[in-house]
Amino acid sequence: MSQKFKGQLLRRRHVPQRTCVACRETKSKKELIRVVRTPDGSVKVAISGKESGRGAYLCLRWECWELGIKKNRLEHALRAKISLEDRQRLLEDGANLLKRCFVES
Ligand SMILES: [Zn+2]
Repeated sequence: MSQKFKGQLLRRRHVPQRTCVACRETKSKKELIRVVRTPDGSVKVAISGKESGRGAYLCLRWECWELGIKKNRLEHALRAKISLEDRQRLLEDGANLLKRCFVES
């Protein structure tokens, strides 16, 4: 086994796995977007990863955003009521993130 290959195996084992609240698939954190409930009770996309609060993850897939936000999977996972404004903003932020990811990849 080459040294390089061993290194890859080792790294892969340490990738933290998270579950998308909409489709329930387990993925690495890189493939998911974190949504947090902030201490003031609003729910937003965590861009920097430093936001504190209870978090839930959604895939980089539009179906999951719609399902998560409109079917209340996110509310359930965060144990919070998501206001209409927050929902709207989450859908917008999600759409922008997805657009950016698809353009870059
Ligand atoms: Zn998903």
